[in-house]
Amino acid sequence: MNFVQMRKSMIEEQLMPRGIKDEKVLAAFAKVPRHEFVSKDLQDSSYDDNPLPIGESQTISQPFIVALMTQCLDLKNNEKVLEVGAGSGYQTAILAELAKEVYSVERIESLAVSSVHTLERLGYKNFKIVTGDGTLGWAEHAPYDGIIVTAGSPTVPESLVKQLKDGGRMVIPVGNGFMQVLTVVKKEGGIIKKEEICGCAFVPLIGEEGWRS
Ligand code: SAM
Repeated sequence: MNFVQMRKSMIEEQLMPRGIKDEKVLAAFAKVPRHEFVSKDLQDSSYDDNPLPIGESQTISQPFIVALMTQCLDLKNNEKVLEVGAGSGYQTAILAELAKEVYSVERIESLAVSSVHTLERLGYKNFKIVTGDGTLGWAEHAPYDGIIVTAGSPTVPESLVKQLKDGGRMVIPVGNGFMQVLTVVKKEGGIIKKEEICGCAFVPLIGEEGWRS
């Protein structure tokens, strides 16, 4: 398979026509080998316009939604970012290309372990992944310039709002167990502003400040 060509087609056919314009985001998508984040039998379809299973009933998100969430963070290369839900590590790699440091919390230990292996094998150094409940954030490294939550939450977790830097942005799907609204939360002078971007469907964010099961 020509994965470089598959990435080019993904960008030209899925991302650019739907409004992904940030050149840095597009460059990260051209660089990160998405096929390395799925099992061998799924590599041929790893650049398709849909999510794919990664085990443990979890998914690697559709390329467009990863790009849209990343673009919403508006990264300039000097930020500290918190990701909730490392999953395969693909979104972590995209963030590692665009920010200074990436901290990621993953609830399922086997996914946390395999995502670290993949990212280390690909040479990424500016990230840390821990197993835990990401609805509580990762206080040790707070505050964050950006927070990205890659699972659907009933509300915006208060702990994450607290760990967001003033002037920072959080991108989070908020809604019920089936459908959510991708929401950008901005903290400006201590005031929280929310902007709704589009409908989306994520696996549930399970934890103390998310869904209970
Ligand atoms: N960003 C991932 C990727 O690129 O592969 C996709 C993430 S998948 C859609 C959502 C992930 O959120 C799953 O791996 C799931 O285990 C994780 N998750 C759910 N609730 C969580 C929580 N409270 N803390 C941390 N991770 C959580």
